[in-house]
Amino acid sequence: MSELTPMMRQYLEIKADYPDAILFFRLGDFYEMFLDDAVKASRILDITLTSRGKGGDGNDVPLCGVPYHSAAPYIARLIEAGEKVAICEQVEDPKSVKGIVRREVVKVVTPGLVVESESLSPKENNYLLSLFGDGGSRWGVAYLDISTGDFRVTETDGEDAVWSEVACVDPREILVPASLRDSGRLAGRADLAAGRMISAIDEWVYDRDYVERLIRSHFGVASPDAIGCGGLAEGLQAAAAVLHYLQQTQKGRVDHIRDLRVYRSQEFLVLDESTRRNLELTATLSEGKRRGSLLGLLDRTATAMGGRKLRQWINYPLVSVEKITNRQDAVAELVTAAGVRTAMREVLDGVYDLERLNGRISLASSGAKDLVALRASLEKLPPLFDLLDGVDASLLREIRAEIDPLEDVKELVARGIVTDPPFVLREGGIIADGYHAELDELRAISREGKGFIARLEAQEKGRTGISSLKIRYNKVFGYYIEVTKSNLSSIPEDYIRRQTLANAERFITPELKEYEEKVLGAEERIVELEYGLFQEIRQQVAAQGERIARTADRLATLDVLVALAEVAHERGYCRPVVDEGDVFSVTEGRHPVVEALNVSERFVSNDVLLDNAENQLVIITGPNMAGKSTFMRQVALIALMAQMGSFVPAAEARIGVVDRIFTRVGASDNLARGQSTFMVEMMETAAILRNATPRSLIVLDEIGRGTSTFDGVSIAWAVAEYLHDTERCAAKTLFATHYHELTELAVTRGRIKNCNVAVKEWNDQVIFLRKIVPGGASHSYGIQVARLAGLPHEVIERAKEILQNLEKGEYAEGGVPRIAKGKRGTAAKESPQLSLFEQGADLVRTRLAGLNIAALTPLEALNILDELKRMV
Ligand code: ADP
Repeated sequence: MSELTPMMRQYLEIKADYPDAILFFRLGDFYEMFLDDAVKASRILDITLTSRGKGGDGNDVPLCGVPYHSAAPYIARLIEAGEKVAICEQVEDPKSVKGIVRREVVKVVTPGLVVESESLSPKENNYLLSLFGDGGSRWGVAYLDISTGDFRVTETDGEDAVWSEVACVDPREILVPASLRDSGRLAGRADLAAGRMISAIDEWVYDRDYVERLIRSHFGVASPDAIGCGGLAEGLQAAAAVLHYLQQTQKGRVDHIRDLRVYRSQEFLVLDESTRRNLELTATLSEGKRRGSLLGLLDRTATAMGGRKLRQWINYPLVSVEKITNRQDAVAELVTAAGVRTAMREVLDGVYDLERLNGRISLASSGAKDLVALRASLEKLPPLFDLLDGVDASLLREIRAEIDPLEDVKELVARGIVTDPPFVLREGGIIADGYHAELDELRAISREGKGFIARLEAQEKGRTGISSLKIRYNKVFGYYIEVTKSNLSSIPEDYIRRQTLANAERFITPELKEYEEKVLGAEERIVELEYGLFQEIRQQVAAQGERIARTADRLATLDVLVALAEVAHERGYCRPVVDEGDVFSVTEGRHPVVEALNVSERFVSNDVLLDNAENQLVIITGPNMAGKSTFMRQVALIALMAQMGSFVPAAEARIGVVDRIFTRVGASDNLARGQSTFMVEMMETAAILRNATPRSLIVLDEIGRGTSTFDGVSIAWAVAEYLHDTERCAAKTLFATHYHELTELAVTRGRIKNCNVAVKEWNDQVIFLRKIVPGGASHSYGIQVARLAGLPHEVIERAKEILQNLEKGEYAEGGVPRIAKGKRGTAAKESPQLSLFEQGADLVRTRLAGLNIAALTPLEALNILDELKRMV
């Protein structure tokens, strides 16, 4: 180490504290990176790697750098590549110190804590999520979007629920206790962790005392109760880890994070991770695109904050009939009042992202342009008030009352900042004329400078009679008077010689120098003063952050309501009746996305009726490609949209509030988790049977497909029976299957009904009618669909032959399907498939039940044992 330069030593000392970040080390006008950081960054940023021979061990030190004033895009790229960047600045004025300047890390930029707009998508939150569990089933989950200040916390039961929350929040970075990261438990969920940075937090941070202290000091409250977090344990621990991480990375203040919103899953319609994916709520299954998802369809929001809010509404539909009705009332009024709706959209269109502006202003990372954008947005409020004054719905009236006109902020910015300020803050031109008396005076001096010089030049020409006399300026001499050699005889006494050129001489006069000092001093002072005034204005605006945040939130809600009304109007949706009843009925329902995107085929609407009394479980049969999945997803989406407060694609709908939606749809191999399709299918089915309630809606598509037919039919059959017979999970269920055998279930179970997707058979071909009709399909049409797909004729004919043979064995002599159970749950005697072992076991059971063990002699016991053995 002794051979290291002092600067390198300083670098290594600082770097030791930030081993997992790329250190941007400020050297004059550059941020330099050294050693491994340089190698890595030069590769990611595609910049030149050079070297310096001061590493200490005789080797060259790899080095690369980026200019300080254009560092932002480079930082953004490193973050995008999943790196953290620690920004290390000179914290002393190099001019005023001897030796090495003190440097400190002033901020660490991490993927989860980005505020720079280059790295953010406008309509998506950028969350940092923290999860904590200490061995029990309870977990705390907290997440923060530092760019908007949105900070929420919840507690969940079980690890599955945690991952479901992670999938829903979709964070860029996850904070976990170091022990959890090192335990390897996360590896099992690599699919969910993929693409997200995992940052470990030291164990001691989760200590209860420290947690309380952090919460109290950040929110300035006496106890967590004061911010509504009293009942939380793991949740608070997770939230405190976020605050701790903020302290480590942001260094400065994060005043715009004023709220920690507690939510509980019972307040929302619960959607597990696979349901969210299957229903393509925010991204499509196949390509992960927004277009083709429900969000893509509904997002007619005008503002970025509205876009983010809509995503939240989709991810967290409500269960309170009162709250749903409240939103519906607002949407309904906006659907009817077309003029108001259009006018509101126009106004909202001019509103910038107030949440993120507010975040940047509070974090002192804003420029003057941000303040101007804020003002421009606030100017839209009066016309919006005019529009809102005319509406009735209580939610809209509430929004009207809660939007703060923020006149003071608007007025301050209008008075203080010019209308089109520059990006840079250190070159003046930001503060408006008339805002500050001294600034105005300095500007007058600087402005007059040019006129003064022209006047002085004319005056000197007159005084000396030298018509070629010039007054000029250069950086070395400042202002000077230049006279050609031939005129030197005419110069006055008071000219002081400064420089001799080949054919001219340069002079100064006391008057000129005095003036020069005033002008140049003024310019320097202007820049400094403007910067100070700007910071003052910024701070004054930041102090109103809470009001701005509330207004932004209300505007976002209004934007979503207007967007939902727009879609409802455009696509002819109806207002569903949402109540506490158990009836779920939809007349002429459509799939919102398929209807909108698949223009090649006219969408055929369908009805559905589900309830807990007679139509609890509907078996839908029909060939592949008939439209079963589409129908079932459409039912689930209609439920979800209704509970978001949206109108729904149907002629009429009555939705008894649903507590959870479960789907088991299609075959999605989860290769990232190393599980086969069938295993995933069974795990998802198990989770459904464990968690469903009579208030839930279950959509099961092709259960038991990933195994042999007999296995498959048996599992599907048993699952359907279980859902029917088990009171705890007797949920409203749509059960699609291409096993037409399952239609027999309706014979033995009262609340099971059959439907099928009508097809027309014509010349050994099938034509899809897309209409759901009562009754079961008589066969599976698999072979016909295979023909449609182009399988060779010989294969099709042979398959038909085999099918006929197989079908002969399907029913018992009495016409009862061999796999149907009797009502009391005993196996039908005729079933040859299952009876052999079952019967033996039953006999053994009966024989055992009849024994009085206490009365048996050892010999008798041995004989009976022998007899039992022969039975099995
Ligand atoms: P299944 O689940 O029975 O195999 P799908 O639901 O996947 O069938 O539907 C097959 C295709 O039919 C889809 O691509 C969809 O676009 C189209 N489709 C489904 N239902 C309808 C409908 N009601 N009206 C028009 N087209 C439909």
